[in-house]
Amino acid sequence: MVGQDFDVIIIGGGLAGLTSAIHLSKHNIKVLLVEKTNYPSHKVCGEYISKEVLPYLKQLGFNPFDLGAKHIDEFELTTHNNKRIRAKLPLGGFGLSRFEMDFQLYKLAKANGVTILQDTVTNVNFKTDGFQVKTKTDKNVKAKIVIGSYGKRSNLDVQLQRAFIQKKSPYLAVKVHAKGNFPENKVALHNFKGGYCGVSKVENDHINLCYITNFDAFKVYKNIDAFQEEIVFKNKALRKVFEDSKITFKNPLTISQISFETKSPVENHILMCGDSAGMIHPLCGNGMAMAIKSAQLVSELIIDYLQGKIETRQKLEQLYTRTWKRNFSFRLSVGHTIAYLFRKDWLAPKLLTVLRWFPFLVPLIIKMTHGKPMKAE
Ligand SMILES: Cc1cc2nc3c(=O)[nH]c(=O)nc-3n(C[C@H](O)[C@H](O)[C@H](O)COP(=O)(O)OP(=O)(O)OC[C@H]3O[C@@H](n4cnc5c(N)ncnc54)[C@H](O)[C@@H]3O)c2cc1C
Repeated sequence: MVGQDFDVIIIGGGLAGLTSAIHLSKHNIKVLLVEKTNYPSHKVCGEYISKEVLPYLKQLGFNPFDLGAKHIDEFELTTHNNKRIRAKLPLGGFGLSRFEMDFQLYKLAKANGVTILQDTVTNVNFKTDGFQVKTKTDKNVKAKIVIGSYGKRSNLDVQLQRAFIQKKSPYLAVKVHAKGNFPENKVALHNFKGGYCGVSKVENDHINLCYITNFDAFKVYKNIDAFQEEIVFKNKALRKVFEDSKITFKNPLTISQISFETKSPVENHILMCGDSAGMIHPLCGNGMAMAIKSAQLVSELIIDYLQGKIETRQKLEQLYTRTWKRNFSFRLSVGHTIAYLFRKDWLAPKLLTVLRWFPFLVPLIIKMTHGKPMKAE
């Protein structure tokens, strides 16, 4: 590995990294993917994926329904004062755990000839016209292009001195899987004071229960159990889901410091992809589709660059920035606005009343935070 050169090094093997690795390797591009954790492993995520990604995933050779993914076409929203609306999802989605999805994509990437290294990237250096990438175990690798698909927050953001990393972020999230009765075709968002919890089914009949809240709401209580009892379960629908289910995780998975600040899609010549380029609020349930879509966009441009159809690196970076913004800026700002409005505890029930009067608004709002079905090549 040391001294070996690659066309592309991909930092981070989540959905963005794995799908771009598969896409590029299908075009005979020499790819190294560096991922710090072992496959398979669980991730804090709602695991509801918009069906807009299906044509592209199928083209890459991945069909989630072969793995037992659930079709989801119904949406339910409840508020902390126990008001509820239901709607049909315009395009719908599927439920598949990240444990399974990332693992199967990893196996597909390997089968396509991607070199996969389990290690942490500690340093990325750009010199004249190429990159030198260093890892925790002292490996040095070179490539013409680097994709940064290392997720919402990483040691590399500190090294790159990205603006968002300087600011404290107040959000934390908790996830468990459970066994119990919950309709297979439904995704529910249950609002509570200071946050909301997503509920939907994944393969093997497991229910994903994943909530996000702000630290101020959480810190008053000593632990997750007390917080859930005092705040989360004030939403009766949510209490019932928890009461009727048996949690299968030994311990809940937690993450903190989740940031929704604006980021740049290109940083020190690294092409950022997925959450590394920008994160939509999980309330919108579109982060995974955005990660996969950005992987497709970056891969297509990299192929054109390596084939000489895009003449310079500067042009490549300009084109990617423009394409990324065209595809995601609107979705992100609608997502930020919705999240902002639902953060106001007094406002969420009023918004829900408006949506009950004008139910046609629900699919319209969902459409604004989602993309159209992705085109396969
Ligand atoms: C609480 C919560 C709920 C969510 N629910 C949903 C939902 O229901 N639907 C939806 O569509 N989206 C949801 N999202 C968003 C979704 O999880 C993300 O948008 C998606 O995971 C982004 O994929 P990614 O590939 O960019 O990053 P990730 O999947 O986070 O992958 C990044 C990878 O990089 C690796 N890495 C990091 N640093 C390094 C390093 N230095 N060297 C090597 N590897 C490194 C990490 O180990 C990780 O595997 C949710 C997010 C949160 C926080």
